[in-house]
Amino acid sequence: MKNLPLYILIICSLCGCNNKQSDIVNLYSQRHYKVDEIQYEKFTALTGIKVNVVKSNADELIERLKNEGADSQADIFISVDAGKLQKAASLDLLQKLSDDIKTNEIPSTLLDKNNLWVPLTYRARILVYSNDRVNVTELDSYESLSDEKWKNRILVRSSSNAYNQALMASVIANNGIDGAKKWSQGVVENLARSPKGNDRDQVKAIYAGLGDVAIVNSYYIGLLLSSEKDEEQKAGEAVSVFFPNQGENQTGTHINISGLGIAKNAPNLENAIKLINYLLSEEAQKTYVRNSYEYSVNKNVMPSEIVQKWGDFRIDSLDLNNLGIFRKDAIEVFETTNWK
Ligand code: FE
Repeated sequence: MKNLPLYILIICSLCGCNNKQSDIVNLYSQRHYKVDEIQYEKFTALTGIKVNVVKSNADELIERLKNEGADSQADIFISVDAGKLQKAASLDLLQKLSDDIKTNEIPSTLLDKNNLWVPLTYRARILVYSNDRVNVTELDSYESLSDEKWKNRILVRSSSNAYNQALMASVIANNGIDGAKKWSQGVVENLARSPKGNDRDQVKAIYAGLGDVAIVNSYYIGLLLSSEKDEEQKAGEAVSVFFPNQGENQTGTHINISGLGIAKNAPNLENAIKLINYLLSEEAQKTYVRNSYEYSVNKNVMPSEIVQKWGDFRIDSLDLNNLGIFRKDAIEVFETTNWK
């Protein structure tokens, strides 16, 4: 230390590159789950690196990254939608992932072929159906929800929701825009009520007898079944899980990832890489599945007990960047078919 010229020491104290100030990592996160706090606390306990989180919706965070440009303090952008990661990447807000990030246990269908984002967990957009009023043999695919037999029986949230926009983007990628419009029209005609509420509310509506089949994200069923609120548990128990599009010539069930990218100008790059590798570790992946009922991206980590009971399913292996690429078209399909 005593050999260092004085001016270097002065510069270092001015720019903050002493250990204390650089032991941080800054996240811009769209995730809204309790499990994240557990993860970051464990990481800090392990490494001494403090995790700062700015929470907002994905579009606002992307806007903020854009406006801050080279001055941004963000190290990592986290989203619950591959489409928003694709959007951030297409706006040149993310940097190529370092080779130090350990993705070898992640199936290739979940990875970004451009290596600009990495998945943390995945979730399926599934069907749940009333145990009292639907026989499982009546269900088949997302597409078949437009059959007349479901008139006044389908429950789903509004089209402004990112989960539905991603689903519609996948329908467009798989069936073309005309096929998607026809499907959307059919679903709208079969709705039990005008779209409202979140995914949990659709399950509660089945329990209340307002409809028979709902489109929801898989982990919400785990959250309802494990809820301390009696009413939520009962709603979870009133339905069963169905993975659509499992037939031989069908696409597989639509999934989306929750994932992250490293911000273009990440000031704490090394800490960001450490955090990412921690979140991808078996330990952290187990924490996700146990607390949030999402699926692990690590092939060796089994789902939670509740989720295991639903059995295995084949996922739609569509390149997940399509969930961003077809987003505009998806919104247009919703608008033209009056999916509120
Ligand atoms: Fe959610």
